[in-house]
Amino acid sequence: MINFEYTRVSSVKAAIDVLAKNPTGGFIAGGTNLVDLMKKGVTAPTRLIDINGLPLKEVKETPAGLSIGALAINSDVSENEMVKKNYPLLARALQAGASPQLRNAATVGGNIMQRTRCTYFYDIAMPCNKRQPGSGCGALEGYNRMHAIFGATDKCIAVHPSDMCVALAALSATVTVSGSKGERKILFTDFHRLPGDDPSKDNTLLKGELITGITIPKNAFTNNVYYLKIRDRASYAFALVSVAAALELNGSTIRNARLAMGGVAHKPWRLIEAERFLAGKPATRENFSKAAELAMKGAKGHGHNNFKLKMGPVAIVEALMKALG
Ligand SMILES: Cc1cc2nc3c(=O)[nH]c(=O)nc-3n(C[C@H](O)[C@H](O)[C@H](O)COP(=O)(O)OP(=O)(O)OC[C@H]3O[C@@H](n4cnc5c(N)ncnc54)[C@H](O)[C@@H]3O)c2cc1C
Ligand code: SF4
Repeated sequence: MINFEYTRVSSVKAAIDVLAKNPTGGFIAGGTNLVDLMKKGVTAPTRLIDINGLPLKEVKETPAGLSIGALAINSDVSENEMVKKNYPLLARALQAGASPQLRNAATVGGNIMQRTRCTYFYDIAMPCNKRQPGSGCGALEGYNRMHAIFGATDKCIAVHPSDMCVALAALSATVTVSGSKGERKILFTDFHRLPGDDPSKDNTLLKGELITGITIPKNAFTNNVYYLKIRDRASYAFALVSVAAALELNGSTIRNARLAMGGVAHKPWRLIEAERFLAGKPATRENFSKAAELAMKGAKGHGHNNFKLKMGPVAIVEALMKALG
């Protein structure tokens, strides 16, 4: 049995202070990912800092956009009528995640911080550069059906597993974090990182920092949006490939398009080139196919996941057609 201590905090300052005094500790929110990681011996924080009492649960609309506290529960966000009406892509992506029971426990901050589901990462008998830097990558020559086709390196080919984060990347969200040096804001697309030479780091959060919330700038993506998730089961399964698609239309012409993919990279994968191609063009299947072709440039399979090279462009076109209605 691995012992750990437990502290419940009720302010952001206390959370940051306790972690600063216990650098081998860690925050716990819903616990739906962290407790599994602890049970499997992947991580062993010496002190759990329970942040569930922090006043960071609010979901509100401001003139600038949508503001969500880091402790807001996934189901509270996805079932919020204002979110469903004004930020439907986010609501749809959240509803596609996990199961109702998990969504009732998981928090927005925890969802952003969840670790990859690479099976070699969870099996401490296997090599994994993310869990144990320098030990090798079990997935590279192993069973890599769920793994990345974009941005991977020979150090790690894992994917970020979140659905919510794909919508946040597409909607140009910002993450607000707090640490001993104060508060800072990070563009969502800069929050998660590619593995590079150091896959042990999932993101750009600094040691000791706490996510306090996210904001999504006000937008006009209220009608023509779709979150397509292709997975092995209809519920309770992570994405093989997912696509968040949002269109702002002027008649049948695309004024503005947003696209991001999940299940394909170490971070939610925004498709900027495809978005730029679509802007100003008629909303047709032919243009969607050209955008998908652009989006897939540079994609590379690793054997068992080669099917994603075919599934990716089909999913992009399908998501855009569904968004078009
Ligand atoms: C069986 C199963 C299926 C799932 N399927 C899906 C799916 O299909 N799609 C999907 O998107 N997700 C899925 N999930 C993942 C689920 O969404 C995450 O486990 C959940 O969002 C994590 O949130 P939490 O609050 O429970 O985080 P916790 O488990 O409490 O914490 C996770 C990590 O985040 C850190 N953390 C938490 N809050 C903060 C904060 N405010 N600031 C800094 N660090 C913080 C913790 O220290 C920890 O390292 C699934 C999970 C399970 C168990
Ligand atoms: S893909 Fe990444 S997480 Fe999976 S075994 Fe390789 S290094 Fe570890």
